[in-house]
Amino acid sequence: NNCSFVQTKIQIMLYSFDDTIIAISTAPGVGAIAVIRLSGSRAIELADKYFKGKNLQKAASHTLHFGQLMTKTDEILDEVVVGLFKAPNSYTREDVVEISCHGSPYIQQQIIGLFLADGVRLATPGEYTMRAFLNGRMDLSQAEAVADLIAAESATGHQIAMRQMRGGFSDELSGLREELVNFASLIELELDFGEEDVEFANRSQLVELLEKIIHTIDGMIYSFELGNAIKNGVNTVIAGRPNAGKSTLLNALLNEERAIVSEIAGTTRDTIEEVLILEGIRFRLIDTAGIREAQDQIEAIGVRKTFEQASKASILIYVFDVTECSPEQVHEDLEKLNHPNEKTLVIANKMDLNPYAKPENYAIGSVSVDNIITASAIHKMNIPYLMSRITSLVKSGEVTAGSTIISNSRHLESLTAARESLHKAKENIQAGVTGDFIAMDIRNALYHIGSITGKIDVDQDILGTIFGRFCIGK
Ligand code: GDP
Repeated sequence: NNCSFVQTKIQIMLYSFDDTIIAISTAPGVGAIAVIRLSGSRAIELADKYFKGKNLQKAASHTLHFGQLMTKTDEILDEVVVGLFKAPNSYTREDVVEISCHGSPYIQQQIIGLFLADGVRLATPGEYTMRAFLNGRMDLSQAEAVADLIAAESATGHQIAMRQMRGGFSDELSGLREELVNFASLIELELDFGEEDVEFANRSQLVELLEKIIHTIDGMIYSFELGNAIKNGVNTVIAGRPNAGKSTLLNALLNEERAIVSEIAGTTRDTIEEVLILEGIRFRLIDTAGIREAQDQIEAIGVRKTFEQASKASILIYVFDVTECSPEQVHEDLEKLNHPNEKTLVIANKMDLNPYAKPENYAIGSVSVDNIITASAIHKMNIPYLMSRITSLVKSGEVTAGSTIISNSRHLESLTAARESLHKAKENIQAGVTGDFIAMDIRNALYHIGSITGKIDVDQDILGTIFGRFCIGK
């Protein structure tokens, strides 16, 4: 499968970008039609060589042509539609030809074979997008967004990728860069005057400006938690004692009978992972083996695994049975699970059996009454409220719709490094350090911000990793 997002390192330097490349751009396998894409200086000339219907070399850009594709021995290989995109108005900014043929893998292979025999090279993963980047059609963060867009699995994931691809994030970064460049130029101007001990840049204004920029970057860094959750799903673990109603709750959340519900304590021994999408965010729900003194070895493994999973979870949903569990037991379990309070929801389940149970009685130790949610999983009571609480755990904080959300760990790294340099600059200004040190800090920050969009020379290795995530043909 050429579409598994395997990390393939590309040795960019090995390839020349003068050559013409080819790849199947549609999903592998049999389909109604398949699209084969050529890009490079010989794309049109070679397509024309095997195409009967119209002279493609004389045809205008952005036109479609129906005709036959012929083999070397002049037999009809397929009836096709050819799309022409002339440089620089194409995805790669090179001449691009898209051949829509019938979706048989045999036909696809024959067509690819024709062109390979003429010196065309098979594209490496992501090479079309990499050419688009190297030819200046998009910056690096936009190119990365193309991969995210293709892989998007939820509405919000799609939104973030689309915004990034259309340059929203890049615009914001270039605003930051501009402010920093102005800042740096003031300081460097002072340096030009060397001995004369002048200060063009008012120090307290500089600190203010730095603080403003740091605040913006903080917001972006902060948004990563949500961005990453949207892209990769939020790891959500349901834990509790056997028979507390964990599987029933999972089913109520998923609204269908997927997990096996049983009345024999300790039956959900292995883990089941289900996907729940709430407000465009993907939650990966994991039902765990009940926590109690294990009766046998298999169960002991299950219990140990539960603790392991709970420790890795972003959100912990702890369920207890109000007719069985004392506040002390709840407290004891939560101590053992040892999950951050602000990311833990405590479900007082089976309220239908004991409507007089008081959730506030369970608020002992570190358990806050706000985090205790009464429910009856079997009667689906209070499930919508629980859902809203789950999403608010992810969406809490300053992140609001419309603001930039970063979802790429490479960007997170660069922003964190930029922030560090800016903090240093601020400290240095406040300590009265000379301008050249401050200028260096600012240049470092500029370097890190520039590395996100590829404004500075990015390491070939980084490019290889980024474009290696793509499937072939993209
Ligand atoms: P688990 O071991 O924690 O996964 O518990 P299950 O989901 O298998 O539930 C154990 C038993 O409790 C089953 O018989 C469920 O039907 C029952 N149960 C679960 N939730 C409720 C509830 O809210 N009210 C009542 N009355 N019974 C429930």
